[in-house]
Amino acid sequence: MKKQFEIAIIAHDGKKADMVQFVNKNKNILLTENIKIIATGTTGGKIESIGIKVKKMLSGPLGGDAQIAARVAEGKTKMVLFFKDPNSAHPHEPDISMLIRICDVHNIPLGTNEATAQLLLFGLDEIK
Ligand code: PGA
Repeated sequence: MKKQFEIAIIAHDGKKADMVQFVNKNKNILLTENIKIIATGTTGGKIESIGIKVKKMLSGPLGGDAQIAARVAEGKTKMVLFFKDPNSAHPHEPDISMLIRICDVHNIPLGTNEATAQLLLFGLDEIK
């Protein structure tokens, strides 16, 4: 069996519909056998609802982003697709900043908008 490549997906409420559309559009890439998807709680539920297996962390405001940051730091999560809503405030902003910093510390590809997320998936074979 090939080594698993873990990708985290997070979407703020204002971006969940876009995220679902994105995941659907990229099913062929995301359903590759060695890709494992993890997600914050509510985001994960949306991904499951379109028939994709996902390991759910806590919801973002309850620490899900922090859990994903810990997995990045531990070398488990290898890519983060973060559908951030730049137009709303989030109570867990410190966790979000921490996740972004930890990705930079560990040189982990992080897309914070759909266009970048798409490029990261297209470039997956280069970094896997
Ligand atoms: P959620 O968390 O998927 O549980 O909504 C996302 C976030 O706001 O970080």
